[in-house]
Amino acid sequence: MTINNHVALDLKAANRNRIFRAIISAERITKQGLVELLGLSLPTVTQNLNELVAQGLVCENGAFRYTGGRSAKGYSIDSNSRKTIGIDINRSHLSVVVINLAGEIISSLHEHRPFIKSDEYYRHMGELVVETVRKFTISEQELLGIGISVQGLVSSDKSQVKYGPILGNTGDTVNEIAKYIPYPCELFHDADSAAFAELWVSPDTDNAVYLSLSTNLGGSVIINRRIRTGDNFFAGKVEHMTLRPGGELCYCGRRGCVEAYCNTSRLTEGISDGRLDLFFQKLESGNPRAIAQWDNYLENLTILISNLHMLLDCEVILGGYMAPFLEKHLDGIIRRVRGINCPDIPENLITLANYKNEPIAAGAALYYLDRFIHKV
Ligand SMILES: [Zn+2]
Repeated sequence: MTINNHVALDLKAANRNRIFRAIISAERITKQGLVELLGLSLPTVTQNLNELVAQGLVCENGAFRYTGGRSAKGYSIDSNSRKTIGIDINRSHLSVVVINLAGEIISSLHEHRPFIKSDEYYRHMGELVVETVRKFTISEQELLGIGISVQGLVSSDKSQVKYGPILGNTGDTVNEIAKYIPYPCELFHDADSAAFAELWVSPDTDNAVYLSLSTNLGGSVIINRRIRTGDNFFAGKVEHMTLRPGGELCYCGRRGCVEAYCNTSRLTEGISDGRLDLFFQKLESGNPRAIAQWDNYLENLTILISNLHMLLDCEVILGGYMAPFLEKHLDGIIRRVRGINCPDIPENLITLANYKNEPIAAGAALYYLDRFIHKV
């Protein structure tokens, strides 16, 4: 094969990919719409559309009617033609989501189930996945991948937990964790998964720090729309930055880490037994203990945010399971950060996550979808 043939094939593949992604973005578009949008010839668009239809990825979807009686066929992706599964193994719950080719969650299962490193737990997780695959009749060809998010740092080849003191699974491999899942799986760090889900729904976000505010605090740094993992997987792991030297004990064994002050147990302790909804109800009804714990929590969280601002000067996204409760409190958080050392920070420096439904499980699933979409 000559170099020119290579170039021609690359160009053909690139055109097909542009057409496919344009159809995803537009949701429904005509041939002529693609010609105008992408600056391609009608024969090129027609040929690629035919191929995408033959692959089952794109389908005709009704007609656009124009004045004057002419109408043109609309094309959409066949959102059911591919699916991907994401799992969130958390110390207090287990979630499984199924996402279709359009990036929509079509099934979401959330069990309050403490993590116990045991055959029984992994067997149960395997049964949930097998049952989900059966229920949605997902064939092997349709299944793009299964991503398992864990509360721990994972190796760059996504096959092993490199650091997992929360779940006590440091060193465990994906083969052990997914022993009862009869499909290939990969491991993901939970906060990185949530940050990936956030990027999926935030096309204008280039640089940001994503804070996953949940039972445990997690962080992820996004630079040029990519998650920075660092040379030793620790980039963005703000939870183990020292906030109070010699302070409270963290699960990592050191004292005074951000995590020891900014996990949600610090809020719900003695008030709502781990339940954030109940905590915010009590806070909003003026419960003095809830007010004191919230004040203490915010004092620590806002020091972290102001430090991150000084280091990276980019958007700080507040996500995780706490995000849906923060709407009413965002202004107060911004005021506090301004009061520490940044009086002029713009309003939009601190934002709430856009992806609210199971971002950790969804992020692990969306990884496969993103990879697929870019290589069609
Ligand atoms: Zn720590």
